[in-house]
Amino acid sequence: MEKRIHAKKRFGQNFLTDEAILEEIAESAQLTEEDVVLEIGPGTGALTTRLAARAKRVVAVEIDGSLREQLGQTLSACSTGMNPNALQTADGTMHIGNVAVLFTDILKTDLAALRAEYNEGKAFKVVANLPYYISTPVIMKLLQDAVPPLSCTVMVQKELAERMCAAPGGKEYGTLSVAVQYYATPESVCEVPPHAFRPQPKVTSAVVRLVPLETPPVRVKNPDFFFRVVEASFAHRRKTLVNSLGSDPSLALSKERISAALQDGLHLPADIRAERLTILQFAALSDLLR
Ligand code: SAM
Repeated sequence: MEKRIHAKKRFGQNFLTDEAILEEIAESAQLTEEDVVLEIGPGTGALTTRLAARAKRVVAVEIDGSLREQLGQTLSACSTGMNPNALQTADGTMHIGNVAVLFTDILKTDLAALRAEYNEGKAFKVVANLPYYISTPVIMKLLQDAVPPLSCTVMVQKELAERMCAAPGGKEYGTLSVAVQYYATPESVCEVPPHAFRPQPKVTSAVVRLVPLETPPVRVKNPDFFFRVVEASFAHRRKTLVNSLGSDPSLALSKERISAALQDGLHLPADIRAERLTILQFAALSDLLR
């Protein structure tokens, strides 16, 4: 009999129960039998079984060890292949069928070691209904990895999805848009209402598919400086770009210099705001200010 799970708020546990949406996520990940999938936060396994049915293998990383029994039951019931019973290795990893579950924190996981152990060092496809409290750091960890995933199909809060996909000009466009689009092409897949989960979250969610780029869309002299300029530019959204950048003590740039770079170098008005600049223009600006 299925055990009742007490969802833990501190781990962002909102389990997806809507069958149609679970199918849609698994389908939108565009998996083949060659793919090794990294799932972050398998929870009780509702999505995991659908990924395992489509891919060669699933490696799942789950922080909450108390889900081991329930997850094991879900996976055993769906495993048609070899070893439907859970096997546990000395390090606590659970193996069932073509699924391996590691009970650890994804933010502390060595992705290179995971690739070496489960995919001959090659890139994973990532699929996850991400816990909201760590969605951004997880996505940035994946995108900035030395061997980024082939794709990341992730469910996040709708507002975060909109910020990742935003184009210049709107209020959603900001540091996260530039950071994500520097590494990947985002496409939105679908919206997911609160009633698709147990327990229901207070917010609407959305699924986004990120396809990492082979090379960044812009070449900058110094990527660290580029990101510092982008972050400082959006730090005070009501201020002009000159005032935002000019008031960042760590950059130590004079307003005259920033104005000159904008007007003479980029042919932009001196009173422009950060949200109007494309990634290309941020790249040119950071190179001029460096
Ligand atoms: N995949 C399941 C589903 O769709 O129903 C569960 C999704 S739930 C939103 C997020 C899952 O991520 C939970 O199972 C939670 O325990 C797990 N989780 C939270 N923080 C984590 C972390 N730092 N590393 C790995 N898993 C984490």
